[in-house]
Amino acid sequence: MVKIFTKNLTNKFPTKDITDDDLKYKLKLINSKIKRKININSKISINEKNLPIIAGPNGIENKKLLIKTARLLKKNKLNFIRAHAFKPLTFPYRSKQYDEAGLKGLEWVDDVKKDFKLIFVAEVTEIRFLDRMLKSIDILQIGSRNMQNLELLREVAKTKKPIILKRHYGASIRDFLGAAEHILVEGNNNLILCERGISSPHTHRSTSRFILDLQAICALKEITNFPVFSDPSHATFWNKWVSPMGFSSVAAGCDGLIIETHPNPKKSMVDPLQPLNFNEFSNFVRKVRKLSKFFGKKII
Ligand code: PEP
Ligand code: MN
Repeated sequence: MVKIFTKNLTNKFPTKDITDDDLKYKLKLINSKIKRKININSKISINEKNLPIIAGPNGIENKKLLIKTARLLKKNKLNFIRAHAFKPLTFPYRSKQYDEAGLKGLEWVDDVKKDFKLIFVAEVTEIRFLDRMLKSIDILQIGSRNMQNLELLREVAKTKKPIILKRHYGASIRDFLGAAEHILVEGNNNLILCERGISSPHTHRSTSRFILDLQAICALKEITNFPVFSDPSHATFWNKWVSPMGFSSVAAGCDGLIIETHPNPKKSMVDPLQPLNFNEFSNFVRKVRKLSKFFGKKII
C-alpha cells in the first residue's frame, strides 16, 4: 500500500464543497492539469477529441444477448460494449431471472470478443474475481455502490487497467474525487469518472429514482482533466428520458456516455423501464453523432 503523508491536512473550514486546501493537499493528483489520454489498446484511446458510447444490457444474461448487442454496436460503428457478469442489487433477493451469469458469462465474453473485436466494460464487485476478470475485461467499472469501497479501489487500481469510477448517488463531488484520488495514489492514471444520477427529494416522477447531475459534469471538468462520462440510463431510470439527458450531457461537456440497451427491454433481467431498445439506440447514436461533431468531438 502506498502511504502518503502530507502536511496541513487539517481543514479550517470542513465542508462538502471543495476548498483550495483540498485541491492542494487532498486532491492534488486528480486536480493535476496534465492533458489526459487513456490508451485502451493499440488503436483506440479516449481523449478530448472523441466521445465513446459504451452500450449494452445490464447483465450478460446469455450469449445470444451479447451477440445481438455486438451486432448492434458494429452496425452503429461503435467499439465499446458493456454487460455485467457480476452485479450488486439494491435488494438481496434474486429470482431465477435475476441470476448473475458470473464466471460462465466471462467465457461468453471471450467468445464474443474474438468474433467482434469490441472493447469490453464490466463491473468488478469482488476482489476474488479480479484476476479472472482481467483476462476478459478491458475497462473495469467500479459501481456507485462501491465508490468508497477503498480496498476494492486499491486492488483494482493496482492492476493498472483502465477504470470507470461511478459516483455514488449520495456522494458530494468532494467525496467522489477523494475516492478517485485513492485510485491515482496507487499509480493508475487510466481513470474515467462517471456521473450517474444522485438521490434528491424531488425526482419528478416515481419511475425516476435519481436526478442526473449535469452540473457535476461542469464542476468536475473545472477541477480535473480526467475524462468525465455521463450515464443517463441509470440516472433517469426511465427509457423516454435517456436520449434527452444523453444529448444534454454532451452539451454539458461530457467525454463519453454509458447507455443501457436491450433488444426487448420488458424482458431485461433488471430495470426493464430503463434500457433503450435497438431502434431507439440507433436513433440516439445518429443524433449524438451530429451533436458531438458540433462540439468538436467524434463518437467512437
Ligand atoms: C450499471 O452500470 O449497470 C449500474 C448499475 O450502475 P450504478 O453502479 O451506477 O448503479
Ligand atoms: Mn444497470
